[in-house]
Amino acid sequence: MSNKKFDVLLVGAGAMSATLGALLRELDPDLSIGIVERLEHVASESTDGWNNAGTGHAAYCELNYTSEDDNGDIDISKALSINSQFEVSLQFWSYLVEQGKLPQPESFINRTPHKSFVWGEKNVDFLRKRYQKMSAHHLFEGMEYTESADTVEQWVPLVMRGRDPSIPIAATKVEHGSDIDFGAVARGMIANIAKQPNFDLMVGHSVENLSKNADGSWTVTLDPKGKDSYDVEATFVFLGAGGAALPLLQKSDIPEGIGYGGFPVTGQWLVCTNPVIVSQHHAKVYGKAAVGAPPMSVPHLDTRNIGDTEALLFGPFAGFTTKFLKKGSVMDLLSSIKMGNIKPMLSVGMNNMDLTKYLISEVFQSDTERMDSLREFYPEAQDSDWSLKNAGQRVQIIKKDSEGKGTLEFGTEIVSAADGSLAALLGASPGASTAVNTMVDVIERCFKDKLDNQGWAEKLKQMIPSYGESLIEDAELAKRVRAYTQTTLKLKV
Ligand SMILES: Cc1cc2nc3c(=O)[nH]c(=O)nc-3n(C[C@H](O)[C@H](O)[C@H](O)COP(=O)(O)OP(=O)(O)OC[C@H]3O[C@@H](n4cnc5c(N)ncnc54)[C@H](O)[C@@H]3O)c2cc1C
Repeated sequence: MSNKKFDVLLVGAGAMSATLGALLRELDPDLSIGIVERLEHVASESTDGWNNAGTGHAAYCELNYTSEDDNGDIDISKALSINSQFEVSLQFWSYLVEQGKLPQPESFINRTPHKSFVWGEKNVDFLRKRYQKMSAHHLFEGMEYTESADTVEQWVPLVMRGRDPSIPIAATKVEHGSDIDFGAVARGMIANIAKQPNFDLMVGHSVENLSKNADGSWTVTLDPKGKDSYDVEATFVFLGAGGAALPLLQKSDIPEGIGYGGFPVTGQWLVCTNPVIVSQHHAKVYGKAAVGAPPMSVPHLDTRNIGDTEALLFGPFAGFTTKFLKKGSVMDLLSSIKMGNIKPMLSVGMNNMDLTKYLISEVFQSDTERMDSLREFYPEAQDSDWSLKNAGQRVQIIKKDSEGKGTLEFGTEIVSAADGSLAALLGASPGASTAVNTMVDVIERCFKDKLDNQGWAEKLKQMIPSYGESLIEDAELAKRVRAYTQTTLKLKV
């Protein structure tokens, strides 16, 4: 029997649901909003600070966002798109900080220069061309480039000390990069919504099933651990369950969800909290990925600020698991195989042998091999300063193509019902950094009428000044917006 009815039910209390809830609460304070979270605490899966890399993905340092074609031309279109999407997050967070709806920015975002570092002639050539193309665009203005060992030593001393001087190196630097505790952002947003009426946070409740009602709304069955399950109703449901969004999408039975599969990838970090080492590195330094490595496994050595802890983190080391969540079930992958996705899933397995080989080699890596990977970045790293920690779980999207075969996607994708009553977020990258843009997309798909006729578009524009315009095309707008967000979020150089 249904005992509660919500206008909006958000499943999962990670970065995505928190962001959608925060946007919707601002757009219409009268909406009744519920968040259902299977764990006892919010933001404890991928969104927790220690479970992700905390990089404010702006495409300054991530070399996998700029591909090189066979003629040696660098394509920066993906980097521009990600950068402009990240700027949308910065604007919304700035608005919330100004309104007193997020805490002081240094509790969740810190200026941390973003650097790329490569070695070997071919990679140096790539980085030089990438720099030439990117620095000519206003979104990447101010990017610096060097092939000088002395300059790199000033930029990233740990990376240069003990390095073979005969091997050519190059680096780029953008000073206004950021390190973000996405767990703190999500917890801050949910704490703010919880202060207001018309809100229910149901932690320790798992969504077990959902079915569509004749009037277009949803009946959602909740399992509160150790108690009898019960139903709630919702006009709109968002499946922001991270890796577990796919099985819930399958349970919803919407035709738009047919054919999707998921490929889970685990992550691990080497973590150093020795203050002597930590104080010598203040940057996120990204390198080039190994052959076959999935894009999110690009190695990087990062400064992290999580709560009161400052640490260095290196990784991620990928691996294979059958779980869709860090605290998920080993049956997750098997249970997600359905008639509609078995062919795409099998074909992805067969057509991605480089990835399979890479994951197997990562799984069987010894501690010494992991430290040796770190020493490629930081040659004088000592085993005793580093320990291994498990990161969060990512489920890459497998999508059916026009021939019914599968393609493996490394981005995120919104799957929504044609009537706008349900949306699910699949995939993991660029992830929490672009959550605001992604959730605005959900609003545009599922609340179109309110956007067009109830003043929501104007309200969005107040919260996100660049809404409806292009930061890629409009240099003056980008400059103005950046001046505002860098001042409000204390990212100014
Ligand atoms: C190793 C790694 C590194 C990353 N690095 C970065 C980075 O540097 N920058 C970046 O921007 N992004 C990064 N990401 C991605 C980012 O962490 C994710 O995109 C983001 O946290 C996803 O948020 P979410 O809300 O979708 O999922 P989650 O944070 O996983 O939240 C989903 C929630 O749903 C709950 N849930 C699941 N099933 C149910 C159910 N049936 N009922 C109720 N609740 C349920 C879960 O318990 C969980 O709390 C990284 C991810 C990983 C794994």
